[in-house]
Amino acid sequence: MAGDMPRGCEACLRGAKMVLFVTGKCEGSCYYCPLSERRKNLDVIYADEVAVEGDLDIILEGRAIDAEGTGITGGDPLMRLTRTLKFIRLLKGFFGEDHHIHLYTNGRRASRDALVRLKSAGLDEIRFHPARRDWERVAEAKALGMYAGAEVPSIPGEADKIKGLIRYLASVRADFININQLEFCPQNAFQLRQRGFRVIGGSMAAAEGSEEAAKEVVGWAEAEGIEFPVHYCPSSVKDAVQTRMRLSRRAANAARPWEERLDDGTVGKFVVKVPGASGRAAKRILARALGVDVAQVGVADDGSSVEVPRRMLDAVRTVIPGAAVSYVQAYPTAAREKFAEFPC
Ligand code: SF4
Repeated sequence: MAGDMPRGCEACLRGAKMVLFVTGKCEGSCYYCPLSERRKNLDVIYADEVAVEGDLDIILEGRAIDAEGTGITGGDPLMRLTRTLKFIRLLKGFFGEDHHIHLYTNGRRASRDALVRLKSAGLDEIRFHPARRDWERVAEAKALGMYAGAEVPSIPGEADKIKGLIRYLASVRADFININQLEFCPQNAFQLRQRGFRVIGGSMAAAEGSEEAAKEVVGWAEAEGIEFPVHYCPSSVKDAVQTRMRLSRRAANAARPWEERLDDGTVGKFVVKVPGASGRAAKRILARALGVDVAQVGVADDGSSVEVPRRMLDAVRTVIPGAAVSYVQAYPTAAREKFAEFPC
């Protein structure tokens, strides 16, 4: 890393930024595109992992993680410019002017008019992932007085392309470039393998040669004395730091009375089958047998079992001898997607 970190990254590293996915629509055709089937080219909206049906969903998710800012992403948010402008105003209006908002775009639709409207709506930072023909969009953003930079993946063997972009960005007095480690995911794995890329042994997803290419660029910028902030963001930072921190913040606000917060940002709970009963009936029966308020006991989404905190486990085994119990670890999202389950 050389130079100051982009302002938009500071809160992100603390897990304090909400990710607002404005649309899956995009005119780009990047072979390494990581968008899932549930998002790619679909006109859907998500606030973190929450499907958004109305503005309130965005506000509630922001509150759930105590968001200090928002990263607006897609697809290309500029394919739904009116929607994006509305969300910027909504976030600034509800969370205040200090709520830092940055936006990612491939730049194809970043016309002068679009940039002016984004700036006047309150956008704090714009990050381009531009094809060569759209590099000038960064210069346009800078000419309008925006805080603007680039964010690109580190493709093995393509360090020279990034060096060329850095020379251009420095020449137009852009503010930064972030270089991300290339990662495999189900959506791009076939395309990456076709091009001869491999996952690093022992790693979940990082592509071989990506880190080396990024470090070559960072070292080159320093050796050349280029006065321009160049940052490398390894996938381990994104996964292990940003995501875990964001989950922890959510768990702090969203953990239910029967859930315990775990160090990795997930929540844990004991799940019990009540013989002969399910759903709310099972919850009432168990709460009565334990002599606790029904609000201290939960019901699994499919209604098949009830959920209790660790402190009630012994009492549960007493009132339901031979009860089928398991410990479930889940993400603290609205849908509580299961992370792991252990019979006990
Ligand atoms: S610009 Fe982004 S969303 Fe669009 S195809 Fe490329 S990686 Fe995917």
